[in-house]
Amino acid sequence: MEQSRLREFEYRCIQEEPAECVAACPLHVDARSFVMAVAAGDWDESWKVLRKTMPLPGILGRICDHPCELRCKRRECGDAIRIGALERACVTRPAPAHRVLVLPRRDTKVAVVGSGLAGLTAASDLARKGYPVTVFDVGENVGGPLLRFPQAVLPREVVAAEAATLTSLGVEFHLGEVPRLEDLRTQFAAVFVERDGEQAQPAAVGPDGRLLLPHD
Ligand code: SF4
Repeated sequence: MEQSRLREFEYRCIQEEPAECVAACPLHVDARSFVMAVAAGDWDESWKVLRKTMPLPGILGRICDHPCELRCKRRECGDAIRIGALERACVTRPAPAHRVLVLPRRDTKVAVVGSGLAGLTAASDLARKGYPVTVFDVGENVGGPLLRFPQAVLPREVVAAEAATLTSLGVEFHLGEVPRLEDLRTQFAAVFVERDGEQAQPAAVGPDGRLLLPHD
């Protein structure tokens, strides 16, 4: 093979680096495997790929604004693969049976203030890691800002179903009132405050939504 041709292949090779679309995805969804599963008509497999890295697939599969498509290599020869639309098509199909693996229970109790996307994602991650999690929200229903999406985009039943999944992982929901942050700090080892949840108590919004520990 000519050196110039070899250099061309070397330039294209990404070796062990993730594909650009995967790197651009905040959740690092394996978009290539997902699209291949969809192309093969294997919706169960496509669900499986999403679940590997997507904490709330019913919600995120419907509302993600698909930054991955901006990095899709297919743009160089036409248009990007509509990964967001394919994910939406996937999660509107019945989900195959699935068992969530949860790490052994820990003693460290965590409070989450706000039940919007950030709050539910934090609750999901923490519960899977074995932490007892309690989610507080001033709203009467789980979802916070998620409930402002049109029903056609994100049905409330989907949000409720994801909340039910979290409940099955041991997450508790306290709705209608959020205790003062000072009080939460005395009862919980850590408090996660949703940054963008307008329905979360404003005084509790901490920098970058980071975990606020009792000694902060
Ligand atoms: S649509 Fe969103 S979640 Fe899905 S691969 Fe693209 S960026 Fe990731």
